Amino acid sequence: MADHGRPTTPVDDHLARILAAVEPLPPATVPLSDALGLVVASDVVAALPLPAFDNSAMDGYAVHQRDVVGATPESPVHLPVVGGIGAGAATIDDLAPGTAVKIMTGAPVPPGATAVVPYEWTDRGSHEVLIEHPAVVGQNIRRSGEDVDAGDLLVSAGTVLGPRHLGLLAGAGEGRVEVRPRPRVVIVSTGSELREPGQPLGPGQIHDANSTLLASAARAAGASAYRVGSVADEPGAFLETLQDQISRADLIVTSGGVSQGDFDVVKAALRDRLWFGDVAMQPGKPQGFGTVDGVPVFTLPGNPVSAYISFQLFVLPALRTLQGRHRVVHPLRAARCSKGFGSAYGKRQMVRAAYDAGLVAPVGGHGSHLLGDLAAANALIVVPEETTEVRAGDTVQVLLLDEEF
Ligand code: AMP
Ligand code: MG
Repeated sequence: MADHGRPTTPVDDHLARILAAVEPLPPATVPLSDALGLVVASDVVAALPLPAFDNSAMDGYAVHQRDVVGATPESPVHLPVVGGIGAGAATIDDLAPGTAVKIMTGAPVPPGATAVVPYEWTDRGSHEVLIEHPAVVGQNIRRSGEDVDAGDLLVSAGTVLGPRHLGLLAGAGEGRVEVRPRPRVVIVSTGSELREPGQPLGPGQIHDANSTLLASAARAAGASAYRVGSVADEPGAFLETLQDQISRADLIVTSGGVSQGDFDVVKAALRDRLWFGDVAMQPGKPQGFGTVDGVPVFTLPGNPVSAYISFQLFVLPALRTLQGRHRVVHPLRAARCSKGFGSAYGKRQMVRAAYDAGLVAPVGGHGSHLLGDLAAANALIVVPEETTEVRAGDTVQVLLLDEEF
């Protein structure tokens, strides 16, 4: 695994290679109930005004404002009550001057009425009402179109649909929305030593952590992830699994079998179809990428920490591109590092770290097998290629692993 002067690809070049090969999934129209977290494919414009008609903001009486100008508690205005209007009322008569009509919140305001007097300002009379305060024109009337006008932009292309956007679309009468579909990601672990979690281990065996780690990361990123059980280090078996999965995948992630070992199954099986090489980073140096039948395939290294960090740097931007998101690469934040450490020259180092409120510190050891340390981290300190030492108190760049962006 020594470098031996083998050429390495800069991280940014590898990422550029990936982004050049991936484009957003074709749009699909889905019911609002299936759209949470998906990205809008094209601008949605309001077909109807919101509110759709003038309606009351209070339970009270609709009146002609002029009729209640002089109302006070000492000399209330008396008006005959000519009826009642509930929410959902379909037909309503004009309100004659000198009369009032009971009206409920959300009910259509009758033509002619210019204000709604709330119950609290009245004696709540049924046949005749005493009104003790004047109202201003328009008081307690929600105007048609005051929220959204017909023709207004409801959500723009690229919006990630959250509960509030979906509430707006529903309120504006849109039952369906055109989105980029949820990418289908297939995860394949390779390694003859791997056993399914929950199964007992034989000599030399380990539990497959990567497929769960990577499938969870894909789901957390908004994909639907399918975890194929681990595949032994036999190129034939691996290729068969890949071929089985390719038609049901928008993106495939494998782990293991891409370094310099004698049984590096993924490399052996796909040597002629994908790019394989070393990327100038630590951890995660051996990488492979390409498309098979048009589907992007990422062959990540087997060590769990390497696989996970490779996912964050390379797979996630591709996944987000498929989703039609505008920002695909983790933003970096400045933080103060509370503990010094060294870093290899010429490699971008991603150091597992704990971040809180602008302060960050490395956690655990360097080993790429250290799942305990990985679980204790919530950030990566990203150390540039040319930096060989970070001192306590230095400002560093951090990638927050659980950050929404
Ligand atoms: P490889 O890249 O296949 O040489 O694997 C590198 C190291 O990661 C070896 O120690 C493997 O046993 C380990 N490894 C590979 N795949 C997994 C996995 N799915 N879960 C946990 N460890 C793994
Ligand atoms: Mg292996």
